[in-house]
Amino acid sequence: MKKRLLLLAGLLLSGAALAATPWQSITRPIPGAPQAIGAFANGCIVGAEALPLNNPAYQVMRQDQRRYYGHPDLVLFIQRLTMQVHNLGLGQVLIGDMGMAAGGRFSSGHASHQSGLDVDIWLQLPKSRWTPQMLLKPQPLDLVSADGKRVVARHWQPEIASLIKLAAKDDEVTRIFVNPAIKKQLCADAGSDRDWLRKVRPWFGHRAHMHVRLRCPPESLECQEQAPPPPGDGCGAELESWFIPKKPGSGAPVKRTPPPLPPSCQALLDNHLL
Ligand SMILES: [Zn+2]
Repeated sequence: MKKRLLLLAGLLLSGAALAATPWQSITRPIPGAPQAIGAFANGCIVGAEALPLNNPAYQVMRQDQRRYYGHPDLVLFIQRLTMQVHNLGLGQVLIGDMGMAAGGRFSSGHASHQSGLDVDIWLQLPKSRWTPQMLLKPQPLDLVSADGKRVVARHWQPEIASLIKLAAKDDEVTRIFVNPAIKKQLCADAGSDRDWLRKVRPWFGHRAHMHVRLRCPPESLECQEQAPPPPGDGCGAELESWFIPKKPGSGAPVKRTPPPLPPSCQALLDNHLL
C-alpha cells in the first residue's frame, strides 16, 4: 500500500514537471511600471511590452507561442539592433523567444527568459522576408559541424559575425550565449577589435541562434544581476576547455526542481490565479 502511494506521488511529481506552468495562463502583461523581478532563470515581469510584430527590419517567429513579451528595454534593444542590421543591408533578423506576458517559466525549452531581459535571435539573415507559414514552422540552420569542433564553412557568413558583434557592442547587453565552435570562429576572425568578445559566452547548444541577455534596468530594484564575465576576450584556455572530451556525466546541466519563486512573483501568481 505504502509502495503504491509512493509510486503515485512519484507519478504526480513527474507529471507536474512536464505540465504547463501557471505562467502560461497569464496572457496579458501585468499592468504597472516596468519591473524585471528576480533572476533570469527564476523571475517574472510587471509592465512587459509586446514586441511590435510588423517591422521592416525583423520578423517574429512562432507567434502562436506568444513569447514576444519583454521589458521595454528589451523591445528597444531589438528595435535598435535590427535597425542597424537593416541599414547595413545585412538581411532580415529573425526573432525567436523573448518571454511570456508576465515572464515566468516556460513549459518547454530553456529555463531562463523569465524576467523579460532575454531574447533568442537566429543566426541566419535571409535576404527576403519569410512567409507566415515559414515563420510558424521555422527551419533552424545548424552552423556547427557534427563533431562540434568548428562552424560549417558553407553556412558561416561574415554577416552573422557582424550581427553578433553589433549585439555585443550594445551597452545594455551583458552576455550573449553561442556554441563554443561559433565563439572559436569569432575569436579567429576578430582582429584587433576584441573587447566585445568578452560578452560572447560559449554554452551548450546554441548552434543556430544566439541568446542575448540585457543588464538589470536601474529601476528594477528586485532584479538579480549576474556577475560580469571574467576579464579578457575569453578566447584562450576557457574556450579550449569546451573542446576537451569530458568525463561521462559532466555534460549539459541536468534539470533540477525549480527553486522557490521570488516572493513578488509568487504574490503576482497568487493574485492572478485567485
Ligand atoms: Zn535563449
